[in-house]
Amino acid sequence: MRIGIFGGTFDPPHRGHVALARIARERLRLDRVLIAPVGSQPLKTGVSHSSFEDRVAMAQLAFAGESHTEISLIDAPRPDGHPNYTFDTIQRLQREGSAGDLFFCILGADSFLSVAKWHRAADLLVLCDFIVGARPGFDLGRLTAALPDSIALANESGSDGLMVVGLRRQDGCKSRLYLLPDLAEDISATEIRGAVGDGINKNGTTGAVLSPSVLNYIESHALYRQG
Ligand code: ATP
Repeated sequence: MRIGIFGGTFDPPHRGHVALARIARERLRLDRVLIAPVGSQPLKTGVSHSSFEDRVAMAQLAFAGESHTEISLIDAPRPDGHPNYTFDTIQRLQREGSAGDLFFCILGADSFLSVAKWHRAADLLVLCDFIVGARPGFDLGRLTAALPDSIALANESGSDGLMVVGLRRQDGCKSRLYLLPDLAEDISATEIRGAVGDGINKNGTTGAVLSPSVLNYIESHALYRQG
């Protein structure tokens, strides 16, 4: 099976997240997409977020109806309080999966730009293939410059809506980076939280970028209210 794993804070999950998961599934012909809200994002520790339970509940609402897409609890908060590392998550999926399963890590261009700072970046980058969606304001052309020094580009090819970049580590281990250039959802969870804090506007910005069920959840659970 071809399985995509899409981790994130999802605070809240919005139309940009849904669009990325869908285009990744379609272009890479994924059999399953796992949406994994993260208990503690290593590069965002100290940032206060809605509870894991609220973010899981909102992800269930936001991705309801997306075919072959399910919410995974694999990145639930760890009992030891440590951050959830993508390297550990992918390794566990590979260990617990079936022979022949192929895993793809799905993320946005802004996240990939920081990949060199991720836990065991040089190991992670050859552990599985990566699907990176364009995000307004982040240049896909800069992504390869964000790679750690030990990872070189092996080859590049492209077709409509999908660019493929080969990655090769010094010891010969290889993987692929699939770039999705035609995703253009100019939406940010940080901005949504700010807009909701200023007052829910169902017919305005927040109504356009969140599903009605997520908006209702935010309202009924009084999330992101200021003060
Ligand atoms: P913020 O906007 O506050 O930075 P975020 O939505 O980027 O929040 P996450 O919920 O952690 O934060 O994002 C999960 C993943 O989705 C990340 O890999 C991020 O790059 C990607 N992503 C988020 N929004 C978009 C978007 N509008 N277009 C493409 N990718 C996105």
